[in-house]
Amino acid sequence: MSWDIPSQTNQLRADGLWRELRTLDSKQGPLVHVDGCELINFSSNDYLGLTASEVLHEALRKGVQLYGAGSGSSRLVCGTLKPHVELEAALAAFKQTEAALTFSSGYAVALGTIPALVGKGDTIILDKLSHACLVDAARLSGATIRVFPHNHLGKLSKLLETAQGRVLVVTEAIFSMDGDACPLAEIVELKERHGAWLLLDEAHAVGVIGPQGRGLSAALGLSGRVDLQMGTLSKALGLSGGYLAASRQVIDLLINRARSLIYSTAPLPCLAHAARIALDIVASSEGDRRRQALRENVRQLSPGDSFVSAIVPRIIGDENHAMAASARLRESGFLIPAIRYPTVARGSARLRITVSAAHDLGQIQRLRQSLFELGLSE
Ligand SMILES: *Cc1c(COP(=O)(O)O)cnc(C)c1O
Repeated sequence: MSWDIPSQTNQLRADGLWRELRTLDSKQGPLVHVDGCELINFSSNDYLGLTASEVLHEALRKGVQLYGAGSGSSRLVCGTLKPHVELEAALAAFKQTEAALTFSSGYAVALGTIPALVGKGDTIILDKLSHACLVDAARLSGATIRVFPHNHLGKLSKLLETAQGRVLVVTEAIFSMDGDACPLAEIVELKERHGAWLLLDEAHAVGVIGPQGRGLSAALGLSGRVDLQMGTLSKALGLSGGYLAASRQVIDLLINRARSLIYSTAPLPCLAHAARIALDIVASSEGDRRRQALRENVRQLSPGDSFVSAIVPRIIGDENHAMAASARLRESGFLIPAIRYPTVARGSARLRITVSAAHDLGQIQRLRQSLFELGLSE
């Protein structure tokens, strides 16, 4: 093997899989500036429009005033400040668990949690469409990995029957690239019948669905039966960071074993301070109003469908065709990058349209019209 970088990059280009960073010259929001053009952004995970919230901006400023800039060290040395602890108590209350632990990202939650709880001789059973961080964490753990076809309960049941050691089922509440939900009640029944545990990644559910935006487990009254509830502060909550909500015993073990927590500097205290305020907004009547606006916007974009999530994919298939559709939409004034392998399977490239409470009706109608012109209405 040689270090032939150009041949690798050329191959990526030839396969329609080349990726580039694009720079926004504006704030995050429904209208962004890219290369001197104003574009309507339908690709952010800021589902409730909280990144623009003056209350959150003020909370960040206040957090800096009270707690300074950096956190100084990892959580276990001297990097745990009061706002971290207050945020974790608020998250536990919000998720109706005994305790919660925050990490610098959702990715770090997965990487820290899964290998801390299972290892060689154990089995992890993953939904085929699980997010890359869940797959990476499963690999890192050294446990045997089994995969079931997306939302396939029959195959999950079969895998549970033959799994060895401690068995952890891993799935998402709302799937990040498809926007559909997992059959949570049935999965909970199955994992309980086999004495397995369940890790549910609620990255795209928290803030968006369930009473007060508490997610899918709360919507179905199953919070108490999901062993490990994972989520991020970077999507509907409009900031960054991730959390795991679970029993006190699990959280205490993670504090001792989760390497992405132990060997990484604590998240900025001002972020923790602001995230608690973001959580208050999400759970408040203002959160309900924002969720209502989001639902209405999704309904306007896809009138036939009942509301599941803020993610409205248009699956195109061929990678180069998806790139071309994205380029056409950009000419029409929209920012909707094509999502391709390895984020989704080869040949299932798509436009992942994400709707926000912050979009206005005119923006939604313009997108509907442009999708129609491209033959991409449902
Ligand atoms: C975004 C995402 C994550 C990672 O969260 P970050 O806070 O962005 O690291 C984890 N799981 C799913 C399903 C996601 O979509």
